[in-house]
Amino acid sequence: MSASAGTIVAYVGLGSNLEEPVRQVEAGLRALEAIPETRCTARSSLYTSEPMGPPGQSDYINGAAELHTRLGAHDLLLRLQAIEQAHGRKREIHWGPRTLDLDLLLFGQLTIDTALLKVPHPCMCERDFVLAPLFEIAPGLNIPGKGALTDLLRDCPSNHLKRCG
Ligand code: AMP
Repeated sequence: MSASAGTIVAYVGLGSNLEEPVRQVEAGLRALEAIPETRCTARSSLYTSEPMGPPGQSDYINGAAELHTRLGAHDLLLRLQAIEQAHGRKREIHWGPRTLDLDLLLFGQLTIDTALLKVPHPCMCERDFVLAPLFEIAPGLNIPGKGALTDLLRDCPSNHLKRCG
């Protein structure tokens, strides 16, 4: 979907592998709908993927959502972080288990590189659990500086992704 005047189309990746992950991601998707000056215009199916971080973690549930927003990118990131905190997110172990992780994947076709925010999200192009849900809701996307989503997904290493609902 294209943006109407004054809005930007943004994409968010969601992930969880703690405390009933399907419920966490569903709650995250509902919380996106409540962000001010923002409409959630599409959401992907949910997928399971094998964890990338330390061993012994449970599988992840992942999904993606499309937003139309009038917020700036940093304000949107703050809203995403507030949703993470409201779902008990703790940042204890790098790449460790997490209750709810929300990443700002894309913000229009902008490239952003500040201390707090990097868009396109770093590493998203090497993660099938990010690219596949994104492809489901926006197959024609171009990832700034990286190329066509369809090509990136074809060339991406596998995390044994399965669609689960
Ligand atoms: P993580 O623990 O992997 O969710 O990383 C969170 C940190 O990444 C926060 O300090 C954010 O400011 C930073 N960050 C940079 N770019 C992004 C982005 N595109 N989406 C979410 N967090 C980001």
